[in-house]
Amino acid sequence: MAGRSNAGKSSAINAICARRKLAFVSRIPGRTQVMNFFDLGHMRHLVDLPGYGYAKVPAAVKAHWEGLLKVYLRTRHALRALLLVMDARHPLTALDRRMLDWFAVTGRPVHVLLTKADKLSRQGARRQLIETEVALAQLYPASSVQLFSSVTSIGVAQAREVLSRLLEISEPAADPQSDQPVGVPRPTG
Ligand code: GDP
Repeated sequence: MAGRSNAGKSSAINAICARRKLAFVSRIPGRTQVMNFFDLGHMRHLVDLPGYGYAKVPAAVKAHWEGLLKVYLRTRHALRALLLVMDARHPLTALDRRMLDWFAVTGRPVHVLLTKADKLSRQGARRQLIETEVALAQLYPASSVQLFSSVTSIGVAQAREVLSRLLEISEPAADPQSDQPVGVPRPTG
C-alpha cells in the first residue's frame, strides 16, 4: 500500500482493518519513513510503504526513499498487488504516475483508493471517479479504482472485498457494520 504523504493511507489501513490506531495517523506528514507489515492471517501481509512527496523533506532524503520504493516495487516478487492511495481531489500526481510506471514491470494488478471522498459533493466524487478510471485505463490497464472515505466509511467494504480477492483470501469479506477486519491484523515489524 503506497501513497503520497497525507493522502490518507494510514487512516485507510485503519478503516479497512477496522482497528483504531493500528497504523499511525501522523499529524506531521512525512515524518514516519518506515515500512510496517500487518499480518492479515492466511500467510498474507499488508505492507504499509512510506508516504512519498512530502514537500518539507530535504531533496536528498526524498530521493533516497523514492529510490528504495522504486527497487521494492519493481523487484519484490512476493507482492501480489499494489494498493495506491490518492486524495480524491488531486489524483494521479506525477509521483503517483511514477509509482505506476515502476510497478508496471511486475504485470501485477493495481487498485486505487480515491480517499477523502467525503470532501467532495456526491456529483464531484462521481466525476473524479470516472475521470480517474478513464486516465488509469490508459496508464495502467490492469487497474481498478474506487471512492473511499475513512470518515464516512464510503468504500470500506468494497476495499476489503478487493483486498480479499487480490490476496486470494477465501473467506467472505467482513460485514462493514461489524468490527471484523479482513484478517486478524497484527503489526509484525
Ligand atoms: P497518510 O500520511 O497518507 O498516512 O495520511 P493520514 O491517514 O495520516 O491522514 C492525513 C490527514 O488526512 C489526517 O489529518 C486525517 O485525519 C485526514 N484524513 C485521512 N483520511 C480522511 C478521509 O477519508 N476524510 C477526511 N475528511 N479526512 C481524512
